[in-house]
Amino acid sequence: MKEIALHVPGFPRIGAARELKHALERYWRDELSDNELEQTAAALRARHWAAQRDAGLDYVTVGDFALYDHVANHIQLLGCEPARFSFGTAETPLQRYSIMARGRSGRDECSCGSAHAASPALAMTKWFDTNYHYLVPEFDADTLFNLSSERLFDEVAEAQALGHAVKVTLLGPLTFLWLGKGLDDRLGLLDRLLPVYGEILARLKAMGVAWVQLDEPILGLDLPAPWRGAFENAYWQLNQAGAALLVATYFAPLEENLSLACRLPVAGLHVDGVRATHELVNVADWLPAHKVLSIGIVDGRNIWRTDLDLALARLAPVLDKRQGEVWLSTSCSLLHVPYSLADETQLDAELKGWLAFAMEKLDELALLRAAIATPQAPAVQASLAQARAALAGRRASPRVHNAAVAERVATLPADADQRPAPFAERRALQQQRLNLPAFPTTTIGSFPQTETIRTARAAYRRGELDAAAYTTAMRAEIAHAIGQQEMLGLDVLVHGEAERNDMVEYFGEQLAGFAFTQNGWVQSYGSRCVKPPIIWGDVSRPAPMTVAWSVYAQALTDRPVKGMLTGPVTILQWSFVRDDQPRSVTATQIALAMRDEVGDLEQAGIAVIQIDEPALREGLPLRRARHAEYLDWAVRAFRITAGTAGAATQIHTHMCYAEFNDILPQIAALDADVITIETSRSAMALLDGFGSFRYPNDIGPGVYDIHSPRVPDSREIAALLRRAQAVIPSRQLWVNPDCGLKTRGWQETLAALRAMVAAARQLRLEA
Ligand code: GLN
Ligand code: ZN
Repeated sequence: MKEIALHVPGFPRIGAARELKHALERYWRDELSDNELEQTAAALRARHWAAQRDAGLDYVTVGDFALYDHVANHIQLLGCEPARFSFGTAETPLQRYSIMARGRSGRDECSCGSAHAASPALAMTKWFDTNYHYLVPEFDADTLFNLSSERLFDEVAEAQALGHAVKVTLLGPLTFLWLGKGLDDRLGLLDRLLPVYGEILARLKAMGVAWVQLDEPILGLDLPAPWRGAFENAYWQLNQAGAALLVATYFAPLEENLSLACRLPVAGLHVDGVRATHELVNVADWLPAHKVLSIGIVDGRNIWRTDLDLALARLAPVLDKRQGEVWLSTSCSLLHVPYSLADETQLDAELKGWLAFAMEKLDELALLRAAIATPQAPAVQASLAQARAALAGRRASPRVHNAAVAERVATLPADADQRPAPFAERRALQQQRLNLPAFPTTTIGSFPQTETIRTARAAYRRGELDAAAYTTAMRAEIAHAIGQQEMLGLDVLVHGEAERNDMVEYFGEQLAGFAFTQNGWVQSYGSRCVKPPIIWGDVSRPAPMTVAWSVYAQALTDRPVKGMLTGPVTILQWSFVRDDQPRSVTATQIALAMRDEVGDLEQAGIAVIQIDEPALREGLPLRRARHAEYLDWAVRAFRITAGTAGAATQIHTHMCYAEFNDILPQIAALDADVITIETSRSAMALLDGFGSFRYPNDIGPGVYDIHSPRVPDSREIAALLRRAQAVIPSRQLWVNPDCGLKTRGWQETLAALRAMVAAARQLRLEA
C-alpha cells in the first residue's frame, strides 16, 4: 500500500480573530479600499495554507476561500450573474459581488454613477443541514455560462508561489445547478455549463494543479432519477480535461447512489466517514483499485476530540481491503467548526481536553496517519495515550452524567407530553381567563435592542455594572416596552427580551451541561458569525431563568404578558451537541429543563407562555426516509416542554422559516394553542397549506415583514388579513408581525404596530 496522503475538503475562512469579518464590514463602510480588503484576504489564505502544510497535510486546499460565500464565487467564476442586476462595465467584479450579496437599494447608493433600479440581494438559504447560509444562484432558460473570473487562478498562483502543493476545490456542476432557483429544468443547463468547467479544469491542469476536488454533496440526497442519470456522462466529459478529479460527498450516506459514486469516471472519491461509517467497507469494495479513496474520518461538523482507537478500528478493514491509494481527511469542510482551542483561556481545562477545533483536527489527521504507518513509534504511542486518557476521562466524568437527569428521562411517564385537556376545552378555559377580542393582537417577543440596552448588557458582562444596577436598567426597559404596548392597545403583551443577547445563549448560560467559548466563532453568512454553545453534559435547570423578568412585567399591567422561552429543538439545533448519546436524548433533557421553567412561570401566575421553535424544520435530516424518526422525537420534546401547563394556560409557539406544507401533521401535533409564523413576504400564501390541512388550533400569520424598515399601512395589513380569512376561519386568527422586533428602531416599530392594531380593529368591525 502506498503511503496515506492527508488533506481537508476545506478550511474556515473568516480568520481566527474574525479578521475577514472586520475587514469586510470596514470595506462596506468605505473605510477600507478594495486593495486593503484583498490584502487581508490574501494574508488569511496564506496563514490557512501554512497551517495545513505545517500539520503535515500533503495538499493545501485552494478555492475554499470567499469574501462572502463560496457559492457566490462560483456565480462569478461561471459567469452567471443574474441579468436582473443589469451590471454594466462600470462596476468592478468586487462591486458586482457585493451587490449580489447585499443588494442595491437605489441609484443614490450606487457608486458607479449610473442609474440603477433597486435590486434586492440574492436569496440566502441553508447549506444542506448546516447553519451556514449560501447565496442562491438564479437561473432562467436563457442563462449562459462563461469563464468570467480570474480569482480562482490567482489564488492558485498565490499558493504555488508560497511553495504549496495545491488541491483545488470547486462545487461540482450538478450540485451547483441543484442549489439554484428560478428554473425548474436546471438540469437542462448542464450542457451549457460543462464546457466552462472543462475550460477551468484545463487551465488548472496547465498551471500544474495535481488534483481538483469537485464537491457533489447532492449525492447524499434523495435525487430524482434524471439528476442521478446525469452524473456519469457529465463526469466522463469533465475527466477529459486532464486534471485528476476527486469527487467529494459529505453530510450523508450515499445509499442508492453508492455504486454510482464509485463508478464515476474520475480519479478519486471522498466520502463522509463519520455520517456514513457503515458504508466505508462497501465503498472500499466498489471503488476500483486505480482510484483514490479519501476517507473523511475526523468529524468536520462537531467539536469533539476524535476517538482515535475507534477511528483506527473503522479504518482497519478498509485499509485491509483496499488495493488502491487511501487518503485521510475530515468528513467535510472545516468551515463548520471554530478555528482553534489555543485562544480559549477560560474554558476549563478538563472540558478543553475533550475538544478539537479546526487546527486540532489537522493534528488528529496527522496522528492517525502516523498510527497506521508506525504504530510502535514512541511518539505515536505517547500521543495516542494522551488522546485516550482525555477520552476516558470524558466517558467516566461524573460531571457529564447526572444521575437525577438520567432517572428523570428514564422514568418519564408516557403521558408527560399530553396537555391535561383537548384543545377545544383548553380554548374555552383560556378565553374565560384572558377574555381576548376577536383577532387578538400580539408581538413575537423582542422589542428594539437599543444602544442603551446593549451598552448596559455589555457593561454588566464586563463587571462594570453590578447586578442591582443592571436589574434596574433592564426593568426600565421592560416598563417602557409594556407602557408602549398598552398605549398601542395590543392584547397580549411581551416583556421585550431586553436582557437577552441571543435566544439560545441566554438559556444555555443558565442551564447545567452547557459551556461557552470565548472565540468559537463559525461563519453563518457573509461577515456574520455565530458562537454556538457546547452541550457537553446532562442538561438540567438549577434555577428559574426568566420568571423574575416575566413577573415584573406582568405586575405592570392588567393585560396578559407572555412568558418567553426558546424551545428544546431550537436550543439543540443551534448548539454543538454531545456525540456520546443520541440527539433525541439530549433534546429530551433540554425539554425537561424547559418544562421546569414553564411550570414555574405558570406557578408565578403567567397565563400565556410562548415556546419558540424557529429551528424545528431545519433539523430535518437530508434523507426523507429519516424524517419521521426525527419529527417524532422533536415534536415530543416540544410537547414535553409544554405538557406541564394547565389547561387554562395558553401555550404559544413561533416559527420563522416557513415552508411547513410537508410537515403540517407534525406542526399540528405540537398542539400549541397558538402558533405564529412568518407569512407576510409570501403575501399569506404560506397559509394555504394550513387552510387545506384544516389546521385545528389558533394561528397568527405574520402581517408585516420585520426584516425591512418599511412601515406598512393599516389598509395593506387588513387586506392581508382578509386573504388569511379566506383560508383560515376568523375565530382561529391572531394578528402579529412576522418575527421579533429586536433589529428594528422604536419609531418604525411603533408606527407599524399602530397600523397593525388599526387593521385588527377594522376586521373586528367587519365581522
Ligand atoms: N422571541 C424571539 C424574538 O422575538 C423569536 C426570535 C426568532 O424566532 N428567531 O426575538
Ligand atoms: Zn421568528
